[in-house]
Amino acid sequence: MSYAAITVEQLGPVTRILHNRPEARNAENEQLLDEMDQALAAANNNPDVRVIIIGGTGDHFSAGHDVIEGVTKRPNLSVEQRWAYEEKHFFEYAMRIWDSPKPTIAQVQGACVAGAFAVANMCDLIVCADDAFFSDPVCQTMGAAAVEMLVHPWVMGARQAKEFLYTGRRLPAQEALQWGLINRVVPRAQLEEETLALANHIAKAPPFAIKLTKRSIHRALDMQGWRTSLQAHFDTHELSHLTDEFVQRRAGGRRDTIAQNKSLEIRKT
Ligand code: ZN
Repeated sequence: MSYAAITVEQLGPVTRILHNRPEARNAENEQLLDEMDQALAAANNNPDVRVIIIGGTGDHFSAGHDVIEGVTKRPNLSVEQRWAYEEKHFFEYAMRIWDSPKPTIAQVQGACVAGAFAVANMCDLIVCADDAFFSDPVCQTMGAAAVEMLVHPWVMGARQAKEFLYTGRRLPAQEALQWGLINRVVPRAQLEEETLALANHIAKAPPFAIKLTKRSIHRALDMQGWRTSLQAHFDTHELSHLTDEFVQRRAGGRRDTIAQNKSLEIRKT
């Protein structure tokens, strides 16, 4: 199987899947999301694969959903069409990463924004380079209710999630570590090596025991409402695509969004 928007490598017992549109800061277009879902299914079904790493080539994990493709390829979606596209590509694909029966590790350098923040957080563990940062500016800049997958209060605590979403600011790797969002921070030059070492360590564990352990942790989260709350937010997010605020922001165009992102960068320093 050959892919255009991702790379897939088999490194012993580890499958490494990388976003591979570095010229576009690894923005997740439809093709990339489709391919990642296919590569994940292949890794899930291959008994020789023990651990799956998801990362990105180049300077960034990913800048999130490809907004330019959205505006050009899907400019005037009906409610039903948008719902169908986002449910499949943003919600169901993300949940399939979460539901992988194998351990998953996000390998994050540079930007990990919005849709990409959701993808990284669907992984069991997150290893970051010291230049990594996270943000979800969807509320601040686009006038929609956060990104489609509201993982935030689960992975960083409700109070931190509110600050993160209300300000839209960048959260650097070291602060993300303090917030409990990620597992470890390593120098940028050692990111691939350290992530692979962790994957190989986990790969030595009995795979069925690992599978059952993951299942139990996920069931505990489901009993606390994880899946239902994500589904509920998805509906809320879809509603927010129809508000006057969202329509005005979209009419303001991408230039406004970029300008606001720049002002956020300044504000953060
Ligand atoms: Zn959306």
